[in-house]
Amino acid sequence: MRKTVIAANWKMHKNLSETEEYGQKLMTLLASPLDAEVVICPAFTSLQVLSKTLEKSPVKIGAQNLFWENSGAYTGEISAPLLLDCGCRYVIVGHSERRHLMNESDASINRKLKAALNNSLIPIFCVGETLPERQNNMARQVIKEQLSRGLDEVSLTEGKIVIAYEPVWAIGTGINANPDDAQEMIAFIRETLAGLYNMELAQSISILYGGSVKTDNIADFMDKKDIDGALVGGASLNVHDFARIVRLG
Ligand code: 13P
Repeated sequence: MRKTVIAANWKMHKNLSETEEYGQKLMTLLASPLDAEVVICPAFTSLQVLSKTLEKSPVKIGAQNLFWENSGAYTGEISAPLLLDCGCRYVIVGHSERRHLMNESDASINRKLKAALNNSLIPIFCVGETLPERQNNMARQVIKEQLSRGLDEVSLTEGKIVIAYEPVWAIGTGINANPDDAQEMIAFIRETLAGLYNMELAQSISILYGGSVKTDNIADFMDKKDIDGALVGGASLNVHDFARIVRLG
């Protein structure tokens, strides 16, 4: 049985008081037992306060990025040990905004995945094609390359990684992928993982859909056989909406 994971990516939103208020409210809204693993990925500056606020809750904390070295003269970077120290269990790696706005390459994503895994952080490894790539029938090829290059020489065992399929054209646009298309791509991701590793491991990895997930479409994604959860951006900023997505997930 694969774990359902509902993760929030706050991106560059929420100051400390907004974070604390959200955390307290989420505790009350998610007070009854959860079926899903719930992860909140705030900005670096909010990690510590959120982990303190959610200390007594099963909700996990994740970062949105990390650097591959554990320490050293790397001005402006944050390492896996520093994230662990702030209470992180998860870290998003290879988000399309980092690939496209910060020019992150598959090679640097590969180093980040290794750094996370070596430090027992669970990476939420994002892959996804752009609109021109989809229109040119290159989506599968792009995803396959992102997976094989990102996971190059990465040894994996059960429960060590989560994958998120986030088609770039669906992120922040309000235009979600058709759930059937998302299912097809996620099944393809699982098939690719089976080729890179083995079928048993591929069957054990939770693969999420991300891109304009909202309260009114989450159930349609969760109905699909290979979709194990969601990575939610905009709709996660409202605590009531996010709690509802968790309950529907
Ligand atoms: P939206 O839910 O705002 O489309 O963002 C998705 C995303 O990028 C999550 O990582």
